[in-house]
Amino acid sequence: MENKLSLYNTLSRKKEIFEPINPPHVGMYVCGPTVYGDGHLGHARPAITFDLVFRYLKHLGYKVRYVRNITDVGHLENDADEGEDKIAKKARLEQLEPMEVVQYFTDRYHKNMEQLNVLSPSIEPRASGHIIEQTSMIDSILESGMAYESNGSVYFDVEKYNKQYHYGKLSGRVLEDLMSNTRTLEGQDEKHNPFDFALWKKAQPEHIMRWPSRWSDGFPGWHMECSAMSARYLGETFDIHGGGMDLLFPHHESEIAQSIAANHVDPVKYWMHNNMITINGQKMGKSLGNFITLNEFFSGEHTSLAQAYSPMTIRFFILQAHYRSTLDFSNEALQAAEKGQERLMNAWSTLQHLKASEKSSVDVSTLRKNCYEAMNDDFNSPMVIAELFEAVRIINSVNDGKESLSADDLQLLRETSDSFLGEILGLKQEDAAGETGETVEGLMQLVLELRKNAKTAKDFATADKIRDELNRIGISVKDTKDGASWSRS
Ligand code: ZN
Repeated sequence: MENKLSLYNTLSRKKEIFEPINPPHVGMYVCGPTVYGDGHLGHARPAITFDLVFRYLKHLGYKVRYVRNITDVGHLENDADEGEDKIAKKARLEQLEPMEVVQYFTDRYHKNMEQLNVLSPSIEPRASGHIIEQTSMIDSILESGMAYESNGSVYFDVEKYNKQYHYGKLSGRVLEDLMSNTRTLEGQDEKHNPFDFALWKKAQPEHIMRWPSRWSDGFPGWHMECSAMSARYLGETFDIHGGGMDLLFPHHESEIAQSIAANHVDPVKYWMHNNMITINGQKMGKSLGNFITLNEFFSGEHTSLAQAYSPMTIRFFILQAHYRSTLDFSNEALQAAEKGQERLMNAWSTLQHLKASEKSSVDVSTLRKNCYEAMNDDFNSPMVIAELFEAVRIINSVNDGKESLSADDLQLLRETSDSFLGEILGLKQEDAAGETGETVEGLMQLVLELRKNAKTAKDFATADKIRDELNRIGISVKDTKDGASWSRS
């Protein structure tokens, strides 16, 4: 690869040159959603972040196997080892079979991802379909002596593991500090240590999502599925593991411990974490009353929303910030994103019908190089967007006749825009009728040709009527020496 890509590895806490284990193949695993409710901004950010990574790696020529799971079992209410399974609870309240809840919200999640132009992963495994992989991995951990059975449940022995390895190396925590800050909770006497986490939980009589095992009828602990499914589809060691920063501890920390205990190798070469989204400076949460689903953003139906925001506005808003920066949602920020995204899209349309000149007055190859440098610097999407706004300036200047582009440079600018705006950032033209940009472009060329014919026939009334009516619906027509061009005003 001539492009040297560097990325920030959470594990080493520094940027590293990306060197896949088995090029040109790249294995990437990202923790997907727990499907018991509609997706919100907190789901959109990791999905879009790793979609950007997936798209760029493919653009560079890598063959990427991207695995993003669906968590449909074992995710208990308080994210620890107690409480009711979130999906089972929803099923109980709605009087549904848990898998009906899973299917319903998985379908809605897929619809949201399609709206956001997030590509489907290569494999989307479900935890409930991989119970055997999980129990056999628990067997391996038991064999290594890093886990113990207690009253039908199996727990990971964190203290024992930590004597040989470092539990906390990903999140930068130290077990002794963690232990001194934790009191033993009631009902946790099955565990040797409050920090031990469940690999297998014996099901209480009312717990409906259960599978037989040699320890008990029960279900796997939350962290097990990602360790088992990533090893199944990507091997015991693979290139990239991603997820939100909120998953760093205990989820990813425990994944590392489980995999090392079972397979005796570090599972992941590069750990990547996207930062969180806040709402008006506050953490997002159901109890805080600022919880807005993606469908509510798209329809505008929420008391906190001043208007509806299109999926491409949400996508652009997320890409405007670097994935490792925090991102604060507000109506003002989203309205600004909407304007910026429209400017980019309008210029992209204008670019399709710009005319070439003899010589260029602008430097397109530097712009293209800057776009690659930005992406190669830890997927710096805001820098790419800044370069694309420079392209907007060039396009509008050329359209106004103030700058010029040679045929080669015009071609290069079109390729650069198509690659970075469309293929890599994954932005696309949106309009109310849902037509694609190409259809609109085709229609506009037809309308402009009819207007030209009217002018040739000296039917100026018709020519003016076409121009005025287009103006009325927000399209401005400009006469040029070779005919006419149009843009959204
Ligand atoms: Zn996970």
